Amino acid sequence: MSKHQKDLTIDKLMDKIKTYITDEKELDIIKEAYKFAYEKHFGQKRLTGEEYIIHPLNVAYILTRINADYETLSAALLHDTIEDCNVTKEEIEEKFGHNIMTLVEGVTKINKLNLSGTTEALINNQRKILVGLSEDVRVIIIKLADRLNNMQTLFVHSEKKQKETAKETLDILTPIADRLGINSIKQDLEELCLRYSKPDEYYDIVEKLNATKAERDNSVAKMIESVSELLNKHDIKHEIFGRSKSIYSIYKKLEKGKRFSEIYDLLALRILVDTEQDCYQALGIIHSKYRPKPRRFKDYIAMPKTNMYQSLHTTVFGVDGQLFEIQIRTYDMDRVAEYGIASHWSYKEKGSVKAVMQNEMEQKLQFFRAIMDLRKEQDNPEEFVNTVKKEVFQNMIYVFTPLGDVIELPNGSTPIDFAYKVHSKVGDHAVGAIVNSNMVPLDYKLKSDDIVKIITNNNSIGPSREWLNIVATTQAKNKIKAFFNKASKEENLKKGEEILSKELRKQKISNDEFWGDEKSKKLLADLKINSNNELYSNLGSGKLSISVVMDNYLKKEVSKDEKILEKATKNSQKQSDNNSLISIAGIDDIKVNLASCCNPVPGDRIVGYITKGYGVTIHRMVCPNVSNLDERLIEVKWNKEVSKLPTNILVRASSDNNSLINIISKAANNDIPVRKFTSRHSKEDDSIELTVLVNNKEQLLKLMNDIKMIPEVTDVERFIR
Ligand code: MN
Repeated sequence: MSKHQKDLTIDKLMDKIKTYITDEKELDIIKEAYKFAYEKHFGQKRLTGEEYIIHPLNVAYILTRINADYETLSAALLHDTIEDCNVTKEEIEEKFGHNIMTLVEGVTKINKLNLSGTTEALINNQRKILVGLSEDVRVIIIKLADRLNNMQTLFVHSEKKQKETAKETLDILTPIADRLGINSIKQDLEELCLRYSKPDEYYDIVEKLNATKAERDNSVAKMIESVSELLNKHDIKHEIFGRSKSIYSIYKKLEKGKRFSEIYDLLALRILVDTEQDCYQALGIIHSKYRPKPRRFKDYIAMPKTNMYQSLHTTVFGVDGQLFEIQIRTYDMDRVAEYGIASHWSYKEKGSVKAVMQNEMEQKLQFFRAIMDLRKEQDNPEEFVNTVKKEVFQNMIYVFTPLGDVIELPNGSTPIDFAYKVHSKVGDHAVGAIVNSNMVPLDYKLKSDDIVKIITNNNSIGPSREWLNIVATTQAKNKIKAFFNKASKEENLKKGEEILSKELRKQKISNDEFWGDEKSKKLLADLKINSNNELYSNLGSGKLSISVVMDNYLKKEVSKDEKILEKATKNSQKQSDNNSLISIAGIDDIKVNLASCCNPVPGDRIVGYITKGYGVTIHRMVCPNVSNLDERLIEVKWNKEVSKLPTNILVRASSDNNSLINIISKAANNDIPVRKFTSRHSKEDDSIELTVLVNNKEQLLKLMNDIKMIPEVTDVERFIR
């Protein structure tokens, strides 16, 4: 296990870095980052009494263990400067470029999250947010190293803080480290967590290990010698290491009820060889001499773990009749096992853009695979990564049409995916499927070599919305969505046409008169609308309100009264700080925006949408701009104490010049400021759009009710843009 280094210097760090980074320019940037951080932190002390700079130096040093690249190392040195030294991100961008700035900013952002979840659901949420908000996986890797160094110096804190930090780390960070495959950091974190959360158990294991150490070392040395001789005899080039099992994994096994003496992988070897073939040969040779323990053999070479880990595992009865757990892998596999997602850094081919891009893509693929696995393990029904990414990782299956054409589909595809792959018409009209001459349900999971026939019915009304939950391919999903969009487009068109004709009837204007006249051409031009149909569908979907259309068409003069009112309401209130309005299951300090389409107010049922890097946007649940199928939705709640928020209502009244005044006075009676309004008068009818500032939904409903009581008002509703 690595330790915090009190006397770490930049020279010592650079020596370590130079073992794998040789580019002078990159080395210079790292040194510059150090100088900058040193100056900015100058005079600041850690709780340990050390100069502050010792912390970022240690974080960078930890990252050299996984051969981190120069941008990551520079960002590690700078990682606390925004938060602790009032440095701006612009300053960092100017000096160190965009990439390093985004890394530092990312670490600053996630360091602000309060990750102290108390329930499984909260903890899930927090892991999801941590991963979801970090655009660059390197941000999380720096965070892991930052946390490791903070845990290495955790002794300075109170017992309460030690336990809290340990819990948070075990809940949130080690699972992420595991999924990213960064074992070397994960194991250190786990061990420190155990030491602080369960000190009795921890020191008990340490003691027992020490008591048996000499004996174990002796057995391991004998076994290494014996196995090495065996492999040499068969000309297999190799290295063998005795391996100590992590204290945390021993604790986990004891917790499951095993006795200390029966945890046989206390004795463990790792054999490194050159090729995959050597792995299997070595295994065979070892098994021929040492009897394997049944059911303990695992082939992670043929079947890698989802975090890319590859190795052969076996347990054999070795020297002195002792059980040995043996891992056999190539050097490359070993690097992946230790560095995980970070393993590709060391392969970066300088000067070849393509190689770098390739490398980056691989990192991303692994990362998303890792997240998916995280999701699966958490049994979280919400999908975290979108289906496109899923398709990339999953193995493909190959199925046949009845005519023998091969169709390639991702694993998990259904007859519906197949149907849409053949033709969108086949998909839209699919009503059943026959696979290998048997009728199957439409959510049947296809297997390679299946022969698939889709039964269609041209009179069917089209796909079912349920299918969106069944299909595995993006293609099918998009086509199903397109079908519904088209269907609702037609609906909107009809609705818009009705809205306009109704309005025209009220105004005693005929349809022909409206469309025949120059004013309507000007209207379309003003509103940047290309056709009658577009006007209808915008009206029908609510994108455009009829009052805007009629105002423009009639070019009504604004009355004097309104001008006065408008002036009076113009000194609009400043929007309050949104971050305190909303609580997101156990996360503090996350940037929150209220959606401007549906203007939620406290009391409304709401949902959050995690944006990449821009915090969470809050929508009303009824808002058509968020679909409940989205993977990025998250549960959110209103905080109790909030101040006035803007929201929009639409009032219709039979024509009366006083209705606007009446409405404003109702609002005033309810202590509700009116921020903005647009109204339109006609001989028979007024329609007024108001933006009001309310404390909550209750207050809004009361206002709407009061307005409804005004005799001339015919209708009041909230609207969504
Ligand atoms: Mn830090």
